[in-house]
Amino acid sequence: MKIRRRSGRPTAGNIDEDCNDKNGKNSLFDSDCGYYHQIIYPLLVSGSEKYLICWLKTIHLIKSKQTCSKKMASGVCNSPMSLIDSKGPDFLQWKCKMCSKKKSIRDDSIFNGLRCNFKDAIRIILAWCKGYHVDDVANMLSLNNSVIEELYIRAASLAEKCMKSNIGDWQIGGPGVIVIVDTYPEGCTNTNMIRMTRPILCISEVKSIPQKYWLEALDRFAYHDTEHINSLKQRILRTIRAVVRPGSIIVTPVRSTLCSHSDFQSLATIYPTIVSVDVLAKHNNDHQNVFTNMETIWKQVLDICEEAQFYCSSYIDLFVVSHMWRAVYGNEAFERLLFQISAMQ
Ligand SMILES: [Zn+2]
Repeated sequence: MKIRRRSGRPTAGNIDEDCNDKNGKNSLFDSDCGYYHQIIYPLLVSGSEKYLICWLKTIHLIKSKQTCSKKMASGVCNSPMSLIDSKGPDFLQWKCKMCSKKKSIRDDSIFNGLRCNFKDAIRIILAWCKGYHVDDVANMLSLNNSVIEELYIRAASLAEKCMKSNIGDWQIGGPGVIVIVDTYPEGCTNTNMIRMTRPILCISEVKSIPQKYWLEALDRFAYHDTEHINSLKQRILRTIRAVVRPGSIIVTPVRSTLCSHSDFQSLATIYPTIVSVDVLAKHNNDHQNVFTNMETIWKQVLDICEEAQFYCSSYIDLFVVSHMWRAVYGNEAFERLLFQISAMQ
């Protein structure tokens, strides 16, 4: 699946900003500090391929043991397999101790069927964690874009699965904390409306640094399809209950197709204060203008939503996931993702 749907490229995620040494093909990756540099980089030098595989087994990114799945007259072989040398790009493969059937060491892992070696696969996962553009990564690793896109999708899907199964770790707000809710593009006055724009639910804490937010791509809808709009409204309320901590002060648009102030009244027992932006605007003065403040608060989120529209509809969900992953984990994004991959596959 291709992940881009429009020509050109988004402005964010440009690796040039982070690449100090452009002389080497892999300078971006190999100059990275932290977990990657300390633990993984020494395993990427030529001649260390088997050590890298050993490490991948140790942290469970690939299976540390396998049993044979060959079907025989008496049933599945099910015998233990052992690692043997291979002439292929993976250097090692599994071989059944009983029937000699062979199996790739990539089976049942995030690398299964991927047309690149393990070294580049690790670099691609790092690139996803840093938000680098597919074209740049493909160029630096001399790989086809489709390889990068495939692994980006797998990485984002695992991150999304992790977020949904540990939703408590991703909650925002809390008693007395202001949380604003709106939808893109309707709530964004300065955006250029793009044909076939996919709406995105935007929830953000006010005044937290770094800014905490939750983004969720929604289905496109027709304005006359009341039934669909109502189902989207219910989904938004479910997300708010799951993501926004009780006692938060909720700020909503006064009128919006999907999240008007009146739509939130069923949440009043969880969030005692639910106000519309217009009510806040009554307190505008020479020094304070709520609409100007809103533009500042939403700027980062708006940039993400606009960049998301460069991608095909089915990747927009995963694109916003990648931003949230980086926003929450920062410099630990890569290490955290590797841990989650090993825990969930
Ligand atoms: Zn066997």
